[in-house]
Amino acid sequence: MSRKTIAVDDRLYEYLLSVSLREPQILGRLRNETASHRAAGMQISPEQGQFMQLLVRLAGVRRALEVGVFTGYSSLAVALALPADGYLLACDVNPEYTAIARRYWAEAGVADRIELVLAPAIDTLDARLAAGEEASYDFAFIDADKAGYPAYYERALRLLRPGGLIAVDNTLWDGAVADAADQSGDTQAIRRFNETLRIDERVDLSLVPIGDGLTLARKRG
Ligand code: CA
Repeated sequence: MSRKTIAVDDRLYEYLLSVSLREPQILGRLRNETASHRAAGMQISPEQGQFMQLLVRLAGVRRALEVGVFTGYSSLAVALALPADGYLLACDVNPEYTAIARRYWAEAGVADRIELVLAPAIDTLDARLAAGEEASYDFAFIDADKAGYPAYYERALRLLRPGGLIAVDNTLWDGAVADAADQSGDTQAIRRFNETLRIDERVDLSLVPIGDGLTLARKRG
């Protein structure tokens, strides 16, 4: 029964949520507000948010970074799992979406843990490296433009301490990565990224089929 990962249909997914989801009320409200948004599909699923909170607590994360904030669900989930003196560097370019995020961070009382930088994430991460922040982060979440994944990943890897964890979203891309007929730019970018990580000896690796596929890469010492 356990030779491969179980296929989760709607009924089983509802069951999974019913017995395991512990979504804080504020995250539920943010999810509902974002659901009416034209780009609602960019939000991570609630059980993935909870899984990331578990990872953050498990790894004792104090300093985290995120590339791709959107309306702030993942950043709020991560910030809530950080200690009171924790820090999250949030990188995005969209003032409209992140205004929603800011409102919820403030309401949740974690705004002081989150620094939002509205600029191309490559520039922000390069500036942090230039400022001597190499190997000073414990956790990175990458969930932005797919063509940019390799560049974000390389910078995140340098910013992480040995033993730190990178989580990369959408690595199963709604199944399109396994559909040879799909040659769209984003699909090819994710395929190439996945194939690169497969042989990247700098990390321990697992592609977890939660949400739209979440690749975990732990920086080796
Ligand atoms: Ca995503």
